[in-house]
Amino acid sequence: MALDPKRTVEELKDLRTLTGDESGAQRVAWTETWERAREWLRGLLEGTGADESIDAAGNQWFTLTGASGRSVLIGGHIDSVPNGGWLDGALNVVAGVEVLRRIASEGTPPVTVRLVNWADEEGARFGRSLFGSSAAAGSMADQDELRQLTDRDGIALPDALAGHGVDLDRAIEARAELAGAAAYLELHIEQGPVLESLDRPLGVVLGTFGVERHRVTWRGQAAHAGSTPMDKRRDALAGAAKLALEIRDIASRVGDGAVCTSGGVVCRPGIVTSVVETAEQLLDQRHLDATKLASMLAMAKEASERFAAEEDLEVEWERIWSIEPILFDETLKDFCEEAILEVAGACHRLPSGPLHDAAEVSRAGVPTVMMFVQSLRGLSHTRLEDTREEHLQLSVAALDGLARRTIDWVAGGGGR
Ligand SMILES: [Zn+2]
Repeated sequence: MALDPKRTVEELKDLRTLTGDESGAQRVAWTETWERAREWLRGLLEGTGADESIDAAGNQWFTLTGASGRSVLIGGHIDSVPNGGWLDGALNVVAGVEVLRRIASEGTPPVTVRLVNWADEEGARFGRSLFGSSAAAGSMADQDELRQLTDRDGIALPDALAGHGVDLDRAIEARAELAGAAAYLELHIEQGPVLESLDRPLGVVLGTFGVERHRVTWRGQAAHAGSTPMDKRRDALAGAAKLALEIRDIASRVGDGAVCTSGGVVCRPGIVTSVVETAEQLLDQRHLDATKLASMLAMAKEASERFAAEEDLEVEWERIWSIEPILFDETLKDFCEEAILEVAGACHRLPSGPLHDAAEVSRAGVPTVMMFVQSLRGLSHTRLEDTREEHLQLSVAALDGLARRTIDWVAGGGGR
């Protein structure tokens, strides 16, 4: 059976009708709608000969057994945020179905091919992203915190999971699934404006950004807005404001895709008649290069000390969260570029700002690559998320080309 990328687009529309409403996709993990989407996926693969299994973390696997037990994995996530888009996560899974159909129609593949629908990539209900993939990757180390999480209605995470047959205490047993994994492939919408601005339908993803997140607290002195002369003020907001502008320069000096965001400042006392006494500023810095990320952080800290001295303030840094950059596999990046050139004639290499399941799989030591397809207006996590149908079709063909190359490589001894 020849690959039919048009069918993927039709199936994605069916999924949208089945699990969305006028506000967008509603496939939030651990809900009835999500379960309906998984049931629908099961139906698509009927008759292909792929065996379904659900692992200890709730990940849904479809395995096409090959001549060798070493496996090539194709992965995505069918869960969405509330009022989400029709493509984020689902494209990877449904395109993977089409690739699996093509492979199955050609008889027993030389290596095992598995499609995985990761559970709860978005973390939309409990605030914990990459649930299923981190369990499989062996990097889930926060079970004690997970036990405490509740959703908006007060339902505890372990109870919600139990309703879908997942025991939180056993979730990390999903690790066994990656035992024979030789390579991992993931197609995703870009969720940003870069490919569209370059007029490229598809791109090779170099890796995912490292992230440094900090809370920067500035302390000055509250004083009356009328009686305090300008040169006698210790205005905490002035420090935060200077830093918010400085990080733009830092990002441009470091370059190579560096991004810095001051996403929020909370001022106290926060009234119109007082100089700001404390300003709590949130800072997010990202880079694909660990050394450059570290130097961005050092520059921001150094600038903050300077601004504190200038404004007669105290400044304190507290790390909220960080993750190292994750670089994808060189050989697979080359295969990905070849596959893109084959169907689209042009290619671009770009980093990923958002994290993805692929980052977890890569962290587990499985050679990994991602392919991005252009997002219109760079929008995602909204019902306005969209990609041109001809680009969606190209992405399915390119994923298939990537899978073909990867299977040959693994069959010849490549991969992990
Ligand atoms: Zn996604």
